[in-house]
Amino acid sequence: MSFDDELREVYDLARRALVCQAELGHREIIFESHTGDQPVALAKSKEVKSTADYFAEMAAQSDGFDRPDQISLLEEETPSTTPSEFDSLDDHCRAICHCTLCPLGHTRTKFVYGVGNPHADIMFVGEAPGRDEDLQGEPFVGRAGKLLDKILAAMGLTRQDVYIANILKCRPPDNRDPQPDEMNTCMPYLKEQIRLIKPKFICALGRIAAHGLLNTTVPLGKLRGQWHRFEGIPLIVTYHPAALLRFQQYKRPTWEDMQTLMAEYGRINKNG
Ligand code: URA
Repeated sequence: MSFDDELREVYDLARRALVCQAELGHREIIFESHTGDQPVALAKSKEVKSTADYFAEMAAQSDGFDRPDQISLLEEETPSTTPSEFDSLDDHCRAICHCTLCPLGHTRTKFVYGVGNPHADIMFVGEAPGRDEDLQGEPFVGRAGKLLDKILAAMGLTRQDVYIANILKCRPPDNRDPQPDEMNTCMPYLKEQIRLIKPKFICALGRIAAHGLLNTTVPLGKLRGQWHRFEGIPLIVTYHPAALLRFQQYKRPTWEDMQTLMAEYGRINKNG
């Protein structure tokens, strides 16, 4: 690739990131104090393309960033070592995809297992499939999913870098809230996915995901802005993308949650 092509690629990436951040509610753009040749060095460097390096960069750059709600993961905890009964996500999916343990198994079109990198460091957990997901068999493919893709892009990630799943694998009729018994029945499937993927971080998207994973009924607003753990794995709670479509004012706090996640991910990667 010629140097001009490389610069054009960097320009396109920067433009896409800025558009995403504007869509997420950012009104001001902060330029770091790079000297003139740093962006060129960055543009030439192949290494900055890896996710871990991207986050390490973000962590370094966000030192001193005013994140009043952030609480760092001060104490280390070893994630649960319960082994999975299955060899792979594919094996697990094959074993459960005809489930009819709850009534949703009789009304679904497709079982929505999950999508993404089976070795992802970051796992996003939503609520339940909606109409589009039920038809296509993949999580977050509707309007909320498109917004999730933009959030990922603003973090320098794609669907292939992370893993995306839901608390429920089958669509509740008319997109009603999942019922507690449906959540309890389906939860072992998500737990097994988490055991197989072994993510370093989990991000709960919205109230239902947070309540299901943390086994609590504390309001979402109180769960945000602090780290939790799911079987030892650091877990952060943020707004559901569908809520962001309805309430613009949630975009900025969501982006702050993602920055907290990125900073902690960068810190952990930097330290080992
Ligand atoms: N909302 C969710 O919580 N999950 C999906 O897969 C789609 C929409």
